[in-house]
This record gives sequence, structure tokens and C-alpha cells, in this order.
Amino acid sequence: MDIAITIDVESDWGGRTRQCDGIEYGLPVILQLLESLEIKATFFISGVVITRYQKMIRKISESEHELASHSFSHQNHSLLNKEQLFEEVNRSKHLLEDETGAEVLGFRTPQFRTNKELFDVLGELHFGYDSSFSRGMVPTRYHGSSVPKAPFLLENGLLEIPVSSLPYIRMPLGFRWLNLIGFTTFKFLLDRLVLPQPVVFYLHPFDLIQPAANPEISFFIKRWYSYKTPDTKKTLERILSYLKKRGDEFILLKDIFHRSKEAG
Ligand SMILES: [Zn+2]
Repeated sequence: MDIAITIDVESDWGGRTRQCDGIEYGLPVILQLLESLEIKATFFISGVVITRYQKMIRKISESEHELASHSFSHQNHSLLNKEQLFEEVNRSKHLLEDETGAEVLGFRTPQFRTNKELFDVLGELHFGYDSSFSRGMVPTRYHGSSVPKAPFLLENGLLEIPVSSLPYIRMPLGFRWLNLIGFTTFKFLLDRLVLPQPVVFYLHPFDLIQPAANPEISFFIKRWYSYKTPDTKKTLERILSYLKKRGDEFILLKDIFHRSKEAG
């Protein structure tokens, strides 16, 4: 299987707080794990954390991972007008390019929330691909079953690389969801189900930490982010090690974009 590991880097709990414990404590664990397993991943970085974590961003870039845009301030993009979207996307793209010297080809919207103007903006800013679709079963949060399972071209010719989901139950292949079912169930399902290629996983640095008391997040959000396997680091390590052991090939989203270009 071709597998792409994607990591959305923003402040804690989906950008709902200004705290960045996930980046401080979870991100180094993820980077170390990827290094020890020799896996390259695609990181979608929220603009507001770029200047705060310059050293870490450069380290990710120098380790030959791919850096892509996750907007500037991680707002609900379905509610923004075209002008606001342009500002959000353009600012984050240029910040990242100035920081790393590498061209940013990809974009993922915060919380999978999109609108038509967003794709117009991505086209105008010459992005190569977008990865903001997920066939999840939670309405309004994810996209419906009409979304293709494999990469496809949007109306304006932009390549969409959707996040994969498990068939039938339409559970996105996000580490938060895999935490709910645990490694053993995940392995059981993965060995039996046929997933469309490439398989795109996603996770956040804050998936590896526990929410502390924080007045900025509601009780329900705190509850939701508290559901974890007892040792999240171990669970992530078991998942990635298992995929590696199976001989799956780890690819970057920009590789999928280049392959699609070559195929015409
Ligand atoms: Zn995000």
C-alpha cells in the first residue's frame, strides 16, 4: 500500500486555545518516532505557530518532511468570505516559504470545513493540491459519501487528495479515531478491508497529550479529547511500526501530486 502520514500542526484542541502543549510535548515525540522508523510525513502548519516555533519548523523541513499550509489562524473557513480566505491562505503560504525556502504546494483547511470560494483562492494562489475532504460519518464536520475515495480533480483543476476513511462505518483514518478503537481492532480491520490507494492518515501533536483544566475549552470538547488509549505514544508507535513491517511505502502528498501530473 502507498501510505501518506499527515500531521496538522496548530495550537491545542483544534486551535481552540492559544496553548501549544501539543507542539511542545507531542510534536517532538512524533518527530522522533518518524525518524526512528525512517518515515517521511507531510506537515500542515498553521501560520500563527510558525514564528513561535521557528526552530522546530526548520528542523522538520531539514529532515526532508514536506511542509504545507494549514491556514494562518485556524478559523472555520466555511464562514469566511473570499477576501478573508485569500488573506488566511496567502499569509500562511508566504510565511512558510520565507521560513524554509521551499515552495508550498499543499493546503488543508482547519477542521475539514470548506466552501466554494476557498478552492477559488487555492487556484489563484497556484497551490498544487488540497487535502481537505474526508468521508466521515459526522454530518457538517466531514464530507458525505459522494466524495470520491481516491484523489480526484476539483472543478478548477486542483488535485484533491482526500483523507482516507474505513469503508462501511466511514470512520476517518485520524489518530483520534484510532485511539477510540485501539491498535488491535485497527490491525484486524486493516488486514481485512481493501482501502483505495493512496491511504492518507492524519493526526495532531495534541493527540498525544491529555487536556488539562483550561477555561478556553468547553466541557464537551475536553471530554471528547480525553478519550484516549492509556498510552497514546505506544499506540501510535504500534500503528506506524506495523505499517512499516508490512512493507507499505510511505509517500508525501507532494509525491502524489507529482505522480498525478506525470500521468497527465
Ligand atoms: Zn487543524
